[in-house]
Amino acid sequence: TREALFHAQKMEAVGQLTGGVAHDFNNLLMAIIGNLELLIRRLQHDPQSLALLNNALSGAERGATLTRRMLAFARRQELKPAALDLRPLTRNLVSLMERSLGPQVGVDLAFPISLERVMVDANQFELAILNLVMNARDAMPAGGRITLAAQSVQVGEGHAVGLPSGRYVCMSVTDRGQGMDAATLERATEPFFTTKGVGKGTGLGLSMVHGLAEQSGGRLVLHSEAGKGTRAEIWLPVAPAEAPSQTPPSPMDEPSRN
Ligand code: ADP
Repeated sequence: TREALFHAQKMEAVGQLTGGVAHDFNNLLMAIIGNLELLIRRLQHDPQSLALLNNALSGAERGATLTRRMLAFARRQELKPAALDLRPLTRNLVSLMERSLGPQVGVDLAFPISLERVMVDANQFELAILNLVMNARDAMPAGGRITLAAQSVQVGEGHAVGLPSGRYVCMSVTDRGQGMDAATLERATEPFFTTKGVGKGTGLGLSMVHGLAEQSGGRLVLHSEAGKGTRAEIWLPVAPAEAPSQTPPSPMDEPSRN
């Protein structure tokens, strides 16, 4: 459709823009950090100057972390899809995340043992789930339960999701949080659309998930009702039985978004 094309073009433009800007910024920041480190070594005898320089250094380092995240976002286009077993991956990911979700938030998993493997890039898929779970948590400020579920679905012609016929796995992240009104729901996957306010949301989470699903031959489908909650479904094509499995990604040290 026209909207899908528009979205894809916008995402590509955003990806190229952030990639280019982040790359240049990273080089500039590396030069600034290098010079600051030299100055800090020279001014060891001057505590007042040292304090100022250390402030500048930590600012520059925060900037460098940001640009690296932006570069990672831009590189997201280079996907390496392979057959992936969602059950162990999700279980590991959730146990890693549980600490940062806090005691008020619980995660329930509902994955059938016989779940078929899907074709998707494992690292990007982890990021996508992370984004969806963080959104679910943000939608429940007082806490609550988040359900991650998956099932195999045979999609036929005229299926509501509008995918080509075939076998898919539909994985969903469900919360009983504040939900979205129709206007928010319509714009939710747009890059940079956020209702979370400056410094809180980037507006890139759902657009990343949407991009990954589409590029993997699947879909992101959002169901939401204001005051009731949200169910985000990632539909992914089932991997051919003979496809070699990909090695699961290494555990992430620190869950980061986007
Ligand atoms: P961000 O989380 O940085 O705002 P996203 O692209 O992930 O960016 O989400 C865009 C917007 O969609 C959010 O600001 C919020 O308004 C809405 N949204 C996303 N997920 C949920 C959810 N589970 N419940 C309610 N609103 C949501």
